[in-house]
Amino acid sequence: MTGQRNESGNVVVLGGGLAGVACAHRLGDEGIGVTLVDRNDYHQFQPLLYQVATAQLPAEDIARPHRVIFHAYPTVEVRTAHVTEVDVANLSLTMSDGEVVGGSHLVIAAGAQPEFFGVPGAAEHAFPLYSVADAERLRLHVQDLVRAVSEGQLDEDALDVVVVGGGPTGVEITGALTELMAALATMDRIPKSGRIFLIDRGSTLLGAFSSRSHKYAHKKLTTQGAEPRLDTGVASVHADRVELDDGTAIRTRTVIWGGGESAAPVVQAAAGLKTGRGGRVDVLPDLTVEGHPGVYAIGDAANIPGAHGTTLPQLGSVAQQSGDWAAGNILRERNGQPPQPFHYKDKGIMAMIGRNAAVAEVGKHRHQVDGPIAFAAWLGVHAMLLSGAHSKADAFISWAWDYFERDHAATVEWSAKPKRIAWGDDAADVPHISVHRDHSSRKSR
Ligand SMILES: Cc1cc2nc3c(=O)[nH]c(=O)nc-3n(C[C@H](O)[C@H](O)[C@H](O)COP(=O)(O)OP(=O)(O)OC[C@H]3O[C@@H](n4cnc5c(N)ncnc54)[C@H](O)[C@@H]3O)c2cc1C
Repeated sequence: MTGQRNESGNVVVLGGGLAGVACAHRLGDEGIGVTLVDRNDYHQFQPLLYQVATAQLPAEDIARPHRVIFHAYPTVEVRTAHVTEVDVANLSLTMSDGEVVGGSHLVIAAGAQPEFFGVPGAAEHAFPLYSVADAERLRLHVQDLVRAVSEGQLDEDALDVVVVGGGPTGVEITGALTELMAALATMDRIPKSGRIFLIDRGSTLLGAFSSRSHKYAHKKLTTQGAEPRLDTGVASVHADRVELDDGTAIRTRTVIWGGGESAAPVVQAAAGLKTGRGGRVDVLPDLTVEGHPGVYAIGDAANIPGAHGTTLPQLGSVAQQSGDWAAGNILRERNGQPPQPFHYKDKGIMAMIGRNAAVAEVGKHRHQVDGPIAFAAWLGVHAMLLSGAHSKADAFISWAWDYFERDHAATVEWSAKPKRIAWGDDAADVPHISVHRDHSSRKSR
């Protein structure tokens, strides 16, 4: 459907995640007109999704309304709309009501979606952890099971969980869930912890990390009671079980999918756009798209060249820095200068395994640290990422140290509201998060 075309000299940005917000901020700082389009009226901070899913943080703490983020940016117009088509030839987007927004440049920052790799039943029955709505849906589902078990309506094995994928997402949610279950059992809210299985095809957890981190993560998780099953693939997912490729099955009502991601559907469907690994846009070193002047792709939606023929990973710091860099290149182009190749300042890789347990690999030689030092590194990087949406990173830091050090069993209160970060926000600054609790609604995201 082609509707009214809204043409301006603005830079059009698709997606208000870490990449899109960084890009719009830099352009807005220079007084450049920007139209930022996102289907949600808020920015979501994915690194803390597992905290929402395990009731450690309320969802609204990691979902910041775009209009609040840009309230001091008069040249940035925020549109809340679902984009159905990306037109790289005409530098425009079509929204679900048919309206077309075009501009001088088009920045594709639509992020990613969970990738189920065609595993039968996964899209229907597994819980992905990619958005605030996903995290809320999972929290409500587990909460329902805990209530039913504590009231004797379900057997205690109804709390068994299967996590698919031993990367940072799978490891972090496994660590948080084992702690949550242990705390609920200690408080006699449930008769005993549910078993938490962590399945991965590979022979280690945290595959991208060093062997010392692999061992650290494995030891911490098993000490906490988790049950990693490595060298094992998931053959199919059902409402009541997961079937594995070794012929065995695990009975479970909760399968959490941390098994991979690919570019947002609207990016993969864009006519004329060359996509590569993970359906992401293959960009040139300066973040432009070959053969399409004026088009940039950044963050999780792009395959960004790194050193020695590598591609940069899907990380918050890559997203934020590429957004800022794309804006810098657009400013250069507007001044008649050529865009410059992106230089990524590597912040390292890190994962939180649980309270008092984290791994980080930082610096050029990927120096490995763990425990509180790793947590401090995690905190520094994540406070910086969050500062793009929240000006009060110190509130986040004080909440996070409290979380890291406090006695979880003594503080978890499943039915109560989780402890908030003291942002000091205006009460009216709330995001509109809608959570569909049935599985079928998720398939259309
Ligand atoms: C569970 C999890 C934990 C993570 N933990 C870490 C971590 O600890 N450290 C780290 O560095 N990185 C982490 N990451 C990765 C990091 O969060 C991402 O790399 C980063 O958020 C990508 O930013 P982005 O702006 O490219 O995409 P996103 O943040 O996904 O933003 C894309 C935006 O585009 C919008 N959009 C998409 N399609 C449409 C459409 N059709 N119409 C309108 N709007 C649309 C979406 O609503 C979204 O707001 C984690 C990711 C996940 C999923």
